[in-house]
Amino acid sequence: MASKTRLIIRPERCKGCEICLSFCNKQLLSVSNTFNQQGYRPVSLLSHERCNGCGACVLMCPDLALYLEGSVADEQSINEGK
Ligand code: SF4
Ligand code: SF4
Repeated sequence: MASKTRLIIRPERCKGCEICLSFCNKQLLSVSNTFNQQGYRPVSLLSHERCNGCGACVLMCPDLALYLEGSVADEQSINEGK
């Protein structure tokens, strides 16, 4: 059985610019109340169950703070700069 892709947020890379929020047509992303080490409020995913893994938010993030686990462009490839 194929495993579902899962959106992973890397809060330490997020600058809280909110670009991704407007590209989720399910409105599943929101700014969290906590701050990361850079002093930004990173986004959080409201519901993994409702996320269909479309990747729109991933494509729009300029800081590679989002990726889809189980996709080709996973965390390892991002860390390796591929
Ligand atoms: S992967 Fe798609 S559905 Fe899931 S949070 Fe991102 S834009 Fe929304
Ligand atoms: S995940 Fe990316 S696009 Fe979304 S708020 Fe953070 S830095 Fe901006």
